[in-house]
Amino acid sequence: MCSLKTSSSENIENLIIIGSGPAGYTAAIYAARANLHPLLFTGFQVGGIAGGQLMTTTFVENFPGFPNGIRGPELMDLMKSQAIRWGTQLIEEDVDIIKLHKRPFSLKAAGKNYYSHSLIIATGAKANRLNLPHEEKFWSRGISACAICDGATPQFIGKELAVVGGGDSACEEAVYLTKFGSHVHLLVRSEKLKASAAMADKTIKNSQISVHWNTEIIDVEGNDWLTNVILKKRNTKEKTNLAVKGLFYAIGHKPNSELFEGQLKLDSHGYLITTPGRPETSTEGVFAAGDIADSEWRQGVTAAASGCKASLAAEKWLSENNLSELILRDSIEPSKTKNSEPTKPSSEINYNSNNLWQKGSYALRRLYHESNNPLFVIYTSPDCGPCHVLKPQIKRVIEEHKGLVQGVEIDIQLERNIAIQAGVESTPTIQLFNYKKLIRQWKGVKQRGEFHEAIRKILGEVTN
Ligand SMILES: Cc1cc2nc3c(=O)[nH]c(=O)nc-3n(C[C@H](O)[C@H](O)[C@H](O)COP(=O)(O)OP(=O)(O)OC[C@H]3O[C@@H](n4cnc5c(N)ncnc54)[C@H](O)[C@@H]3O)c2cc1C
Repeated sequence: MCSLKTSSSENIENLIIIGSGPAGYTAAIYAARANLHPLLFTGFQVGGIAGGQLMTTTFVENFPGFPNGIRGPELMDLMKSQAIRWGTQLIEEDVDIIKLHKRPFSLKAAGKNYYSHSLIIATGAKANRLNLPHEEKFWSRGISACAICDGATPQFIGKELAVVGGGDSACEEAVYLTKFGSHVHLLVRSEKLKASAAMADKTIKNSQISVHWNTEIIDVEGNDWLTNVILKKRNTKEKTNLAVKGLFYAIGHKPNSELFEGQLKLDSHGYLITTPGRPETSTEGVFAAGDIADSEWRQGVTAAASGCKASLAAEKWLSENNLSELILRDSIEPSKTKNSEPTKPSSEINYNSNNLWQKGSYALRRLYHESNNPLFVIYTSPDCGPCHVLKPQIKRVIEEHKGLVQGVEIDIQLERNIAIQAGVESTPTIQLFNYKKLIRQWKGVKQRGEFHEAIRKILGEVTN
């Protein structure tokens, strides 16, 4: 644990990091180990979920150190634990306003002001989506926004695949995917490719690639996995079905840089401009890391590496300007983080009616019928990034109500029938029961305040 600050600069942080992807957490690990006691805004909604883009993928097979691969959300949980272990303070909010024209820099999040001598911007980017009617259902189940990341997935090997887009990335991805798929269909909205002439030539001449001109996707279909895409010719309006096991989006990325417009130099696509090969932005004391300043490589490991650079540069800059106030840790090496053991499903043997958090249908049945407390039921699945974000939030809400509220987690992959009975179609879904009555249902990540409010309402009704 870190000591509290007591000096006159009490309200001015050494370093604020914005973003909780690989870049933000790596920057935090380095800064925290350098006793800078960094504050990190995880983000909540505006720039994607806390934990960043890897929370939206299944297995990451190319991050060093994990020879058997690791689930994206699990990797991000580990980075988060490491950052916290060394003393990073996390604020689970979006930064709404930032002012860089005056020092110390000021930020506003959830109506509260924060001040800092230096900043690391690691707000990442979002892959553009087509927003097809059934896109969400097949996201990571056939649809991917990253051919390099997901191309070698077993489901794609030897199968027909499609890439949507007409620029350099689309062509590169189509060519790359020919290593894995039996054939690649490139779906292009217009009559020509926007890619460089050489790249376009290479693509068109590749016998393993068919280019579909004037073609747009209307929807996707499948069962548990994508089986086909429905196409429409833009000139003739003719509709066709194309059987593919994989659909790769290469329709561009949007950097999360709106906050900095007019304050920092951005390129024509909105990426932050830094000194070539370095993390310094156009304003002294403001550093950038990860996809927000990298339109080319966009990988977890490159983001992490640039987070390291940004942190070391920020530390040097603070020290050269006599701005850092080092906060010594109580012990040189903080205690090890406990690997949060997954909760074991409750059974007749280990069920305890007083446990605040349990897992599985046995606990659900018992608590539903016997508990006098409001009961949260959270439906999750192992690949679901938002579930990783939400579960600790619900647990905190339960703890904050000091024994008056209980929770049960249902893994819908393990207990599919329970999910079907409960009418659950997506994860995370949260249901709140009181005396067997469904009071409210939420889908997706929500602020803790919403759950608190619903509980208070119930507890208020009870005492009235
Ligand atoms: C589907 C998919 C699969 C991928 N698979 C792989 C893979 O297998 N291997 C690999 O190496 N790479 C993979 N990538 C690429 C990789 O995820 C990114 O390169 C990497 O996550 C970039 O890290 P980052 O820290 O720069 O940003 P991000 O991961 O994008 O994180 C940005 C963070 O900033 C936060 N944020 C944004 N705006 C604000 C704000 N206003 N206030 C506070 N916080 C904010 C967001 O909430 C988020 O936490 C994949 C990408 C996708 C989309």
